[in-house]
Amino acid sequence: KPRIFSGIQPSGGLTLGNYLGALKRFVEKQDEGIETIYCLVDLHAITVWQDPERLRQQTREGAAAFIAAGIDPKRSILFNQSQVTAHAELGWIFNCIARMGWMSRMTQFKDKAGKNSENVSLGLFAYPSLMAADILAYHATMVPVGDDQKQHLELCRDIAIKFNNDYKVDFFPVVEPLIEGAATRVMSLRDGTKKMSKSDPSDQSRINLTDDADMIAQKIRKAKTDPEPLPETLEGLKDRPEAKNLVNIYAALAGMTPEAVVAEYAGAQFGTFKPKLAELSVAKLSPITTEMNRLMKDPAEIDRILGQGAERADAIAQPILAQVKDIVGMIRSR
Ligand code: ATP
Ligand code: MG
Repeated sequence: KPRIFSGIQPSGGLTLGNYLGALKRFVEKQDEGIETIYCLVDLHAITVWQDPERLRQQTREGAAAFIAAGIDPKRSILFNQSQVTAHAELGWIFNCIARMGWMSRMTQFKDKAGKNSENVSLGLFAYPSLMAADILAYHATMVPVGDDQKQHLELCRDIAIKFNNDYKVDFFPVVEPLIEGAATRVMSLRDGTKKMSKSDPSDQSRINLTDDADMIAQKIRKAKTDPEPLPETLEGLKDRPEAKNLVNIYAALAGMTPEAVVAEYAGAQFGTFKPKLAELSVAKLSPITTEMNRLMKDPAEIDRILGQGAERADAIAQPILAQVKDIVGMIRSR
């Protein structure tokens, strides 16, 4: 029986990129009736410094965003990672399976560490092996993510295969990334070569789920573009990363293909297209923002939902972790 796992870091407020590349698709998968487990990955978030009070706030806000976007905590399991200890425990075992060389080829690590890799946390380096543990602790086989996580999912496969080979078992399944739709990689509004990220220092680079209508309109109006009008066909967006990004965002929000968007706006100037995009963004995001704000008035209720989700997640992960310990040769006598 297929099982889906995915997560989002409470490392800041959620962005339009997180919504289109991940959250919106989490909801679609839930609504298809697949067993879905979704997680606010706070252990991942602290691989870079997080102020404790803000981490708590961002975790609750993330949970509120999930629910506001359509995650039903009865149908999906929704929790924060640190409440289920199997993640950290299996993550350690995978640290002993994964190779330094594999990890050092991860582009997310290279991007986040920058030139100063001597001074980043060891956790940032080990991030992908914890991510493999997140997924494999549930024997999940399908993982909806944005395009930037493809390499980490390949590494997750490598870890599963090496574990199975090293211990001569057929225990961990092969994991499939689900990277689908028109917005698998939403780009920064300021730089068409960089992905939109919640941790980008520039707030102008992204649309946050908490931005109001004026802010969204202002950010889209100021978004970097070239001076050309929209082309007649998709071909004409080649080598125009900023223009392509706005078309892809429009397509994903409208539930259209990028081809259909280009056909509709062929020859239009950005002065025409941008206000339409802003209007569409506000129409799609403002109901989520309103519901998030309502949910955030009752943080105790959010914590209760996360706790109940964690209990259900734990009930799936513990027996799997127990089997892993048996396979590895660890005594379990209590
Ligand atoms: P951070 O900057 O802290 O890494 P982030 O915005 O990259 O934050 P993550 O929590 O790392 O968000 O990723 C959560 C999910 O959102 C992942 O599935 C990731 O692939 C997806 N995602 C992140 N950014 C984008 C983007 N720009 N376009 C599409 N999907 C994205
Ligand atoms: Mg990220």
